[in-house]
Amino acid sequence: MIKLSEISITRQASIKEALACLNQTAHGILLLLKEDGALDRTITDGDLRRLLLDGHALGASLVALPSIQSVVIGAGYLRREALNLMNQNGFNHLPVVDAAGRVLELLERREIDEQILLSTPHMGSAELEFVEEAFRTNWIAPLGPNVDAFEKELAALVGIGHAAAVSSGTAAIHLALRLLNIGAGDEVFCSTLTFAASANPIVYQGAKPVFIDSGPESWNMSAAALEKAFVAAEKKGRLPKAVIVVNLYGQSADMDPILALCDRYGVPMIEDAAESLGAQYKGKASGTFGRLGIYSFNGNKIITTSGGGMLISDDRELIEKARFLATQARDPAPHYEHTQIGYNYRMSNILAGVGRGQLKVLEDRVLSRRAVFEKYREALADVSCLQWMPEPDWSYSTHWLSACTIDPAVTQIGGTALIQRLAQEMIEARPIWKPMHLQPVFADCAYFSHGETSVSDRLFKQGVCLPSGSNMSEAQLERICAAIRKALR
Ligand SMILES: *Cc1c(COP(=O)(O)O)cnc(C)c1O
Repeated sequence: MIKLSEISITRQASIKEALACLNQTAHGILLLLKEDGALDRTITDGDLRRLLLDGHALGASLVALPSIQSVVIGAGYLRREALNLMNQNGFNHLPVVDAAGRVLELLERREIDEQILLSTPHMGSAELEFVEEAFRTNWIAPLGPNVDAFEKELAALVGIGHAAAVSSGTAAIHLALRLLNIGAGDEVFCSTLTFAASANPIVYQGAKPVFIDSGPESWNMSAAALEKAFVAAEKKGRLPKAVIVVNLYGQSADMDPILALCDRYGVPMIEDAAESLGAQYKGKASGTFGRLGIYSFNGNKIITTSGGGMLISDDRELIEKARFLATQARDPAPHYEHTQIGYNYRMSNILAGVGRGQLKVLEDRVLSRRAVFEKYREALADVSCLQWMPEPDWSYSTHWLSACTIDPAVTQIGGTALIQRLAQEMIEARPIWKPMHLQPVFADCAYFSHGETSVSDRLFKQGVCLPSGSNMSEAQLERICAAIRKALR
């Protein structure tokens, strides 16, 4: 921040003194103050040059400088407004003044135009080496040594038997459904509070999703709602072919009661752990609880390959079949022979190199994201309208996204208003996922709520996800907290 006393000057000063001050401070701007300390105007090199060209001597005072109305902004300004003012006027500086016209702060463009995003990629130091290795050995194709190693290293890390690296988390879910022979007319239960990619592959297979509400304890699939859905399905005489359980924002669902229900009805569970790599449920890696599990390495996830996914299982045959289907289902024959419809879903050897590097820093990234969440919770502990995403004692959440709800009984400012206000401060926040049962595209799908009222509806209405990147600075976090405080005041 620029020290105001160093660049402040009065009309008693000479042109030479003003030039020397500009030269010394090198900010390209001076503040000309009136007797009472209020801002008279700003001065730049050009203003002084014009005085000299007009014939004023170097030793002459600044009295000759014309009075102009300098562009200023009031305290309590929004960053977006300040930046707009700078852009409109082509300035790189903008004084902030109080009601009496006294300068409180001098904003600089490079400080003010910094946008804080929700969740950005955060590379470590080893990624490039693996990618360079792929270039050096010309393993540019899909498949190759990085893919094999990435699969083995991830499987070892989460403690699962087998893994297949694919082009996206969505592709992994699609393969999982295909491997479980889900087809036209089948039903698949799926968490409602999630991203559309959890449910879309059900439709790719010609099957129909049935959406299951969240419980308040972890915001993930409610066992009570799941049980209602199973009871109704049994009554109808048609059980679902699979249950897709999503782990929201880095937190596992309460797997024991969910798995007990799946076992009771003999229905396999697919774990959508796209958002929860690095998390644990009762000490065991999130993603490893289903018949099949999936991870995503999309650009916004806790680690990324820019785009990619992984399908995991303890069943070797399933994963081998997944690799077969993901490479166009080419039967073993000297010619091109196909007995099944396949996909082009494999991960490239280059991107797997990025993934191998990212795996090395996963633990660090988890600790950083958890620290971000803790920081919000502590720094905003006294903001009574905020309720943070709960973390039950069986959960070790990565807090991939720091999420909270705003209690409408305490403040009139809802999630949407807060998100808009933060956008004005150049901070990207997002609503909590809009539940799938509220999506127009799934309007005709059945839905089972946790209780009398729907928990996911409430979370969607009241929820906000805050910037959560593992590469945010302490200063950025302070800025976000201050902006939230200001918005909710
Ligand atoms: C990101 C995400 C996916 C999709 O993963 P992609 O790699 O982007 O295809 C699926 N489910 C959930 C819950 C996600 O957050």
